[in-house]
Amino acid sequence: MNDSLFPIKQIVREKIGDEGAFKTWIDPLVLEGLSGNTLHVAVPNKFFGEWIREHYLETIRQCAAKFLRVEDLNVHIRVGEIPEEGDDKAREATPAATSTHLTDQKPLFNPAYTFETFVVGDSNQFAHAACMAVAASPGKTYNPLFIYGGVGLGKTHLLNAIGNHALSSGHVSSHHNISFTTGEDFTNEVINAIRYDRTEQFRQKFRNVDILLIDDIQFIAGKERTQAEFFHTFNSLYVAKKQIVVTSDRFPRDIKDLEERLRSRFEWGLIADIQPPDVETKVAILKKKSEKENFFLPDDVAMFIASRSSSNVRTLEGMLTRLSAFASVTGKPITVPFAKEILKGYLDDLDKPVLVEDIQKVVCEYFGIRASDIKSKRRSKSLVVPRQIAMYLSKHLCKISLSDIGDKFGGKDHSTVIHAIKKIENSIDKDQQLRQAIEEIKSKIYS
Ligand code: ADP
Ligand code: MG
Repeated sequence: MNDSLFPIKQIVREKIGDEGAFKTWIDPLVLEGLSGNTLHVAVPNKFFGEWIREHYLETIRQCAAKFLRVEDLNVHIRVGEIPEEGDDKAREATPAATSTHLTDQKPLFNPAYTFETFVVGDSNQFAHAACMAVAASPGKTYNPLFIYGGVGLGKTHLLNAIGNHALSSGHVSSHHNISFTTGEDFTNEVINAIRYDRTEQFRQKFRNVDILLIDDIQFIAGKERTQAEFFHTFNSLYVAKKQIVVTSDRFPRDIKDLEERLRSRFEWGLIADIQPPDVETKVAILKKKSEKENFFLPDDVAMFIASRSSSNVRTLEGMLTRLSAFASVTGKPITVPFAKEILKGYLDDLDKPVLVEDIQKVVCEYFGIRASDIKSKRRSKSLVVPRQIAMYLSKHLCKISLSDIGDKFGGKDHSTVIHAIKKIENSIDKDQQLRQAIEEIKSKIYS
């Protein structure tokens, strides 16, 4: 799925105004991309394709034409494999998705992710400065550099910025090597090297680089052979004073099943964290992004969004896209009430008190379960997840203590409530389906 096309589905959703139909027919579509004036859409099977052609093609065409500003848009329906739902990797396919070498002549780094486009605030200035230093003199300042922080806070952006800078400033020229991969792709390469008896080539490839950048290194935890290969790669690069930068969603000590010898090596260098941005930084990010898109975002609207939204920058960007899409489709001016209307469900509504009972009701309706089930002690998966979501939302939307939440869920104890909330908090950033469900539930609660 091409992420930038995502708002089209939301526009179709508003247009058809039938949530059931949206979930059945529109949500499963994969908007693959635009070539010329043709939008490519993949459907899971022939029947599905026929149904879409008959019932929704014209609506999709109109909404997409408005969003993409292509008047004579065609929509091409393709019956084909659809990536697994929730497969974030497919959605996030960036040049970083596979390990890339300069010598491969493939696109190396995302050109949009540079130091110039990165907004610096208190929450990220240390990580930013460390990355700048490393990009300016690889292998000479902080080695290894370990960047950690929550999802959507700019780790991948900074890693790309290092690569972009190192290349454009000539620190690494075409005859040198720079390798950029993810913990997951590194693991896959280890597996393939073993499978096809190519471990020697694998080692040469990673041990002859001047800069090794690995995103989401936490992925290799618990994978014995991959950790061993990484360990040896690390050592040979380190001894040769080559730069190593890794990112992770948590501090080395908090990565479960990470070998001690790796953990201690990560601590040899500099560890820099990225914290969620404060309101001012969020405003600056919104302003910068909207300027880049040539989209005029009034200050009061930027402030309104920044002060009422999650601190994940990716979510913030999504809201901006949604706002600009709706503004261009409806032609309405961008005001605070407009933003409130278009972004409801994404924003925290500070005015409206929410009751645990309201949350339970909406969650039960959403999952088609009975009100008594959500309070029961039954542990089937079809009940556990809705119950956890409802507890999570109760914590975030109601001003109520954890033990009161427990009481409202049939007398569960405090630790059960904490466990439920943690469970959702830990999965929400990784699990797109869950995130979407929660957003939909929230928007129903507030509507
Ligand atoms: P992470 O890798 O930490 O999950 P990303 O680097 O993918 O996060 O960032 C998510 C999105 O937010 C990207 O589009 C990125 O450009 C943007 N972003 C994050 N932090 C900033 C920032 N400080 N300034 C500008 N854009 C940012
Ligand atoms: Mg990332």
